[in-house]
Amino acid sequence: MSAASTPKTPITIAYGDGIGPEIMAATLSILHAAEAAIETEEIKIGEAVYLSGNSAGISKEAWESLRRTKVFLKAPITTPQGGGFKSLNVTVRKTLGLFANVRPCVTYHPALTSGPDGMDVVIVRENEEDLYAGIEHRQTQDVVQCLKLITEPGSRRIIRYAFEYAKANGRKKVTCMTKDNIMKLTDGLFHKIFDEMATEYPEIETDHYIIDIGMARIATRPNLFDVIVVPNLYGDIMSDIAAEVTGSVGLAGSANIGHSCAMFEAIHGSAPDIAGKGIANPSGLLLGAVQMLVHIGQGATAGKIHNAWLKTIEDGIHTGDIFKEGHSKQRVGTQEFAEAVIARLGQRPTQLKPIDYPDLHTCISIPEPPRKPITKDTVGVDVFINFIGSPDALAASLQPCGNDLLPLQMISNRGLKVWPDGHPETQCTDHWRCRFTSNTSICGTDIIALLNRINDTGLDFIKTENLCTFDGVPGFSLGQGQ
Ligand code: NAD
Repeated sequence: MSAASTPKTPITIAYGDGIGPEIMAATLSILHAAEAAIETEEIKIGEAVYLSGNSAGISKEAWESLRRTKVFLKAPITTPQGGGFKSLNVTVRKTLGLFANVRPCVTYHPALTSGPDGMDVVIVRENEEDLYAGIEHRQTQDVVQCLKLITEPGSRRIIRYAFEYAKANGRKKVTCMTKDNIMKLTDGLFHKIFDEMATEYPEIETDHYIIDIGMARIATRPNLFDVIVVPNLYGDIMSDIAAEVTGSVGLAGSANIGHSCAMFEAIHGSAPDIAGKGIANPSGLLLGAVQMLVHIGQGATAGKIHNAWLKTIEDGIHTGDIFKEGHSKQRVGTQEFAEAVIARLGQRPTQLKPIDYPDLHTCISIPEPPRKPITKDTVGVDVFINFIGSPDALAASLQPCGNDLLPLQMISNRGLKVWPDGHPETQCTDHWRCRFTSNTSICGTDIIALLNRINDTGLDFIKTENLCTFDGVPGFSLGQGQ
């Protein structure tokens, strides 16, 4: 079917904030010149909507458009600092169930000399969980906390996606990165599921890195990697590092994939420092749009644009972020760069490897993981107490609150055991975790009775966490030094 006779796919677009309008205009001019069969529906989101009093940054009408088209091309937006504004990016990703964030980062030797030749890494970032749940509390004068949520179904979904993505795209290796030497339950769950699932894909090589050395290797030896699957925060940081290694954060696009909807964007933010100057690199959003065309089954147009873009880069026509004196040929602004790409539509690169996409895109479908029956027993409780004083003084007040069923076992401060047998050098805050454990299964009434006794002493308890076993395996970490 020719581009002109392809039925137009409705897509929702948002021009965003900062450099957003400039790079969106440049991207759309290329899409239209390439005769992409799309019909755009614009929604307003971001800073202006936040500041008009809508703290979510998005209107009901905008949601209706997104639900109708199910495809969103979004320029970056600014999240106003402070004032309780939640990140709209996170809200859209979570509301539409966009669980997989796919971020290819590639080097372009000899056209661009940054990074090692042959780097071609795809970062598959979990998109809905981890510290991005944004559940934060100030609990005492000294202490604020942010909950890190890693779920079994969420981890299974993203890890399955990474393996299926590797299979569908002829990739050879999937690497997982976590910090499970420290976070044994949260990152440990992610790593364990990765190891389990790897056995289902014997044709794919797998490995695991602790995230700190993994990030260092991304910066220095990215050719070690092919597909990388990571929890949310690590993926966010890693994709900026990987994109910078290739030459600029402005070079990388990203696809946010869900079961029914998808969103395409640049990996970078709204770059307020260069907004309005007409110098931003539109490549990240353009390559996001290329991923979008592949997603909606317009692979031929996607390839035409991608190859024209590669030819432009190869011809040395570069925006300021990737321009190198003595190497690049012409320094251009945002729109000039777009015009150079348009002028090359139909051409293919000769030094860089051209790209061809299939016109029929098969979406990777991830079945919902089954929920297995499990036996859960409550065997104790951590009571968090706001208290100024010594561990021994706190223990002296708390010990009488325990009983034979639920005695005080341990007190920790910032995770380190400080009672019994603490060390006088340890710095303590006003936030104490006091662990009461039982040899047998207990119930809510036992915990409420304990809290009543603690309350009667006048101690200020601020929260509790139940200590449970799942099929006999403890679902809680020990105190450091316990
Ligand atoms: P940023 O990515 O906007 O900018 C970081 C640096 O990279 C800046 O020096 C900027 O000039 C440069 N840069 C970014 N994109 C570029 C491009 N296309 N061409 C040339 N140079 C480019 O990160 P930031 O400054 O930390 O964040 C600014 C705002 O963007 C914040 O409000 C943040 O919340 C938001 N943000 C939005 C998204 C998104 O919408 N997906 C993602 C990240 C940050």
